[in-house]
Amino acid sequence: DSAAPLLELRGIKAAYDRITVLHGVDLTVAAGQVVALLGPNGAGKTTTLNVIAGAHRPSAGTLHLGGRDTTGADPRDLARAGVCLVPEGRGIFPNLTVRDHLRMMTFTGRDRPEIEEIAYARFPVLARCAHRPAGTLSGGQQQMLALARGLATDPAVLLLDELSMGLAPVVVAELYEEVAQLARQGIAVLVVEQFAAAVLKIADHAAVLARGRVQWQGHADSSLHAELSSYYLGSA
Ligand code: ATP
Repeated sequence: DSAAPLLELRGIKAAYDRITVLHGVDLTVAAGQVVALLGPNGAGKTTTLNVIAGAHRPSAGTLHLGGRDTTGADPRDLARAGVCLVPEGRGIFPNLTVRDHLRMMTFTGRDRPEIEEIAYARFPVLARCAHRPAGTLSGGQQQMLALARGLATDPAVLLLDELSMGLAPVVVAELYEEVAQLARQGIAVLVVEQFAAAVLKIADHAAVLARGRVQWQGHADSSLHAELSSYYLGSA
């Protein structure tokens, strides 16, 4: 935990119209670290990711990336600075093939064959369905495609929203193994999940967000489970 944070949120507030949903979020993620951002429905987890990716402008607070103040930067600049968001629902176009999804990523500066080659090496199953419309893939394969597409940008910070949504536990475990591997390669990974079990197997650190505030953070150990149940069951 001694590494300097790559991503640092300080006192982040965010609102929709006049309704404030983040009330001062402090959060850090270091290179090579997996941080799980947990919390009940409506806690503000997705909003937090959108703030980091520049898709939602915070009303107060600061966002630092590699020590640089990137508060209020637009999504393109943040993407160029290495921030990659894999959104809830995966952002897949059902009628486009796997190959089309990957070939779209040419703005990364790589050529198309190279982008495909890297993705297929990481997820061999995608090579086998390269010509299939993405909508015909299994949920797990679609999530792999979403990840592969994000990784084509060579991110320094990877933001994953509800990766496990709608997937069988064995598929989720496989995907998180891949995510753990990415962290070992030095990527800072922030994972949002409503249901904690799978991500906690690979997380170094966990933060519990409820009512727009980080209510607890620390190592993913047994005291976390007590915290979580109190927020999820509404007794805290
Ligand atoms: P979920 O798991 O349901 O996505 P979450 O923890 O990710 O929950 P957010 O999606 O960040 O929470 O939502 C936080 C609060 O902001 C909720 O009360 C939600 O109703 C509200 N909210 C989210 N998006 C909008 C929007 N576009 N306009 C207005 N309110 C919104």
